[in-house]
Amino acid sequence: PTLSLADRIAMVTGASSGIGEATARRLAQEGCRKLILLARRADRLEALKAELEREHDGLACLVVTCDVAAELERVANLPSELPAEFAEIDILINNAGLALGRSSADQNTLADIHTILTTNVTAALALASAVLRGMRARGRGHLVNVGSIAGHHTYAGGSVYIASKHAITAFTSAARHDLAGTPLRVTAVSPGAVETEFSLVRFGGDADKAKAVYKDFVCLRADDIADQIVYAITRPAHVQIADIVCLATNQS
Ligand code: NDP
Repeated sequence: PTLSLADRIAMVTGASSGIGEATARRLAQEGCRKLILLARRADRLEALKAELEREHDGLACLVVTCDVAAELERVANLPSELPAEFAEIDILINNAGLALGRSSADQNTLADIHTILTTNVTAALALASAVLRGMRARGRGHLVNVGSIAGHHTYAGGSVYIASKHAITAFTSAARHDLAGTPLRVTAVSPGAVETEFSLVRFGGDADKAKAVYKDFVCLRADDIADQIVYAITRPAHVQIADIVCLATNQS
């Protein structure tokens, strides 16, 4: 038997595109009736909210427009700003993140290092901690951190991003120790190459460079990762999926 999401409140960060958007759609399809959609681009979040509420009877979405890197204090206290009917988050899909530039270890700028680590690590950990506090007090909840294969091994040309995703992998594993003996579950989902706006962001909007990243692969689609996330959170309550590494078939 799978776990029903019907009475669960879920928050998805980075819900304005790619994996987060696909996951929000899947959560709605799976019966989740309260969804919090967080990102910077309010227009995209509002469009997604309108679409999902139109297509799913009884679904209420809350748009939270937030730049997680620029608003760390807000992120660290986010549950307290939510209206009561959304405040008790049961499922956090901690997904907002980015890479920038080629990130060779000898070429990083301070600005890029700061943006990547603040977005992918500081904000993600602050939000996770704030939400876990509430989950622990209520005795239920599931944290899903979207890591990366870059959190499991290293390669050339991604030093800061790789460091950020190793931090997520480590935090997720440590959080599982901290929460052992409680009903809370913690999962890392570590994708390989997924065709989203990720590469476009990485190369500052240069579509040719972005496309070149995917030339050797049949990439994963955002929905493939949403599938893995939904799998983890719908397992029966006694099953904790620790880490799902999901690669494109011809990726190693
Ligand atoms: P996208 O670029 O499509 O989505 C990234 C999301 O993060 C957007 O919704 C964006 O929203 C949000 N985001 C970025 N910066 C901020 C910020 N400062 N404040 C709030 N939201 C922010 O990429 P993906 O869907 O591919 O990436 C999602 C996650 O998956 C990331 O953590 C990424 O590292 C990880 N991942 C991706 C892989 C891939 O190949 N695509 C592989 C492995 C992991 P907005 O711009 O509106 O703020």
